[in-house]
Amino acid sequence: MRRILIVEDEEAIANLIRTVLTDAGYQCTWASDGLQAADLLENNPFDLALLDIMLPGADGYELLEYCKSLEIAVIFLSAKGEVEDRVRGLRAGAEDYLPKPFALPELLARVDTVLRRCGKGAGILKVAEDIEIDTSFHIVKKAGRPVALTAKEYDLLVLFAQNPNIVLHRERIYERVWGEIYLGDSRTVDLHVQRMRKKLGLEERLTAIYKVGYRLEG
Ligand code: CA
Repeated sequence: MRRILIVEDEEAIANLIRTVLTDAGYQCTWASDGLQAADLLENNPFDLALLDIMLPGADGYELLEYCKSLEIAVIFLSAKGEVEDRVRGLRAGAEDYLPKPFALPELLARVDTVLRRCGKGAGILKVAEDIEIDTSFHIVKKAGRPVALTAKEYDLLVLFAQNPNIVLHRERIYERVWGEIYLGDSRTVDLHVQRMRKKLGLEERLTAIYKVGYRLEG
């Protein structure tokens, strides 16, 4: 399920957005100010952030910089709908810009489009240029051809694909994929990661971080 952070200081608007996106199958989190949004962005893997521009704490442009460094797509939602504001937002790196007031179906269409364009729509997770995961059918393809992975290898790949450029600790990997408390046996994680990596030719991109865990270069 794709995760969306809604950053909007007007609760009524945030609630409307959340309702329409949740009904469409997205998992939504709401932040009412810029600092809370920055905390959430740092600590959770979001696919997309909907950013109001004028916010208490930190404004939308500052949050956009955070999102860019975390490779989270951004759509600005703002009452500042003048052409120069839109141009500034898009030039700064937002994927789209929707002036307020907007129609909810239009917002949904733009969200779908941006996620699809970023390789995050319709259950497709992109791992690399030539590797993608179809999460609806549990299929992994490399250069268009299916690659057979065990269930654990598949879950590991999804976890890395959802957290590109982030060092994942062995403990967290184990607890997420095996669903059990990590008791320090790193060999299980290492063995599975190494096998999965080899099958997909990801040795260069999925690297071990000494004594910590692994990171997938996005
Ligand atoms: Ca505002």
